[in-house]
Amino acid sequence: MRTLVIHNPRSGFGSDAIFQFMRALVHPGDECDLRMLADDFTADEACAGVEGYDMVVLSGGDGTVSTLLHALRGSDVPACVFPSGTANLLCANIGNALEPSALARACRIGKTAALDLGEISWEDEKGEKHVRGFGIMSGTGFDAQLMQAALPNKAIMGQAAYFAAALANPKPAVERFTITVDGQTFERSGITCMVANNAMIQGDIELVPDCRMDDGLLNVIVAETDGAAQLLKPLAFGLVDRTGKAIGRPHLESFAGREITIESSGDVPLEIDGEVVPGTVRSYTARVLPGTVRIVVDSLSPYGSEDDGSSRFGESEVIAYPE
Ligand SMILES: [Mg+2]
Repeated sequence: MRTLVIHNPRSGFGSDAIFQFMRALVHPGDECDLRMLADDFTADEACAGVEGYDMVVLSGGDGTVSTLLHALRGSDVPACVFPSGTANLLCANIGNALEPSALARACRIGKTAALDLGEISWEDEKGEKHVRGFGIMSGTGFDAQLMQAALPNKAIMGQAAYFAAALANPKPAVERFTITVDGQTFERSGITCMVANNAMIQGDIELVPDCRMDDGLLNVIVAETDGAAQLLKPLAFGLVDRTGKAIGRPHLESFAGREITIESSGDVPLEIDGEVVPGTVRSYTARVLPGTVRIVVDSLSPYGSEDDGSSRFGESEVIAYPE
């Protein structure tokens, strides 16, 4: 088994989990290459030559992993998403067991699911065009302000930084959003408008029910509220009803489609998988890339299949160097 591990050493708390994973993964006769990302890495360079491997492991925060997955779009090489960041929402949404040795086992068993990515394009203030992939969600408005406010505290506080930031920003601006979903236009006022490939956020809360990464659709989520206290209410509802199926999400409306354009009445910050883009935007377009990446899934994942005992890379029960 030949594995390429692409690791961002700047992500998260700088833990050694990726090395525990590599130790658990390799058997006699295997090869495992480690690529450490530089600060100014480009995703295409980081993924160069990936076709020569049986497996690629993407280790970093959500922003890094989504950028790498976008570079791998259309590739047949299975990708394992490894949680090295602060929140690791993509891992939470894929739903695999997160322990390094469990992920190593999932790689050896080698079951995969073809999952969707989102692709967002926008023009900056100078008229320059940008395109980026996203695995979780992109948004304009309050959520982008939150991500920006949470940045200085992420390394110390982890996920709590997002909730602290929400409480520290009690008066977000209300914007008028013109939302076009597959040619149909809606006008809404709200503090944030997000396009989601999946909907589980901090605290294992599902913002909208039945938002899946394998249905070939993106979900638009509008938070029609004018204060963080009101936004926290649906989040609090989420704590008692994590899937949103029983009591729904007050003040949140959602639409599903393949191509979505959002125009805002004012200049708003844009956030892509937790990373805030420099400057502000007036509009952006997001489209789905259906089933474009092959992601390693285990039997715990909602995208996984029953573990029938078969294994692509052999001896899945045996771990060469158990912890
Ligand atoms: Mg979907």
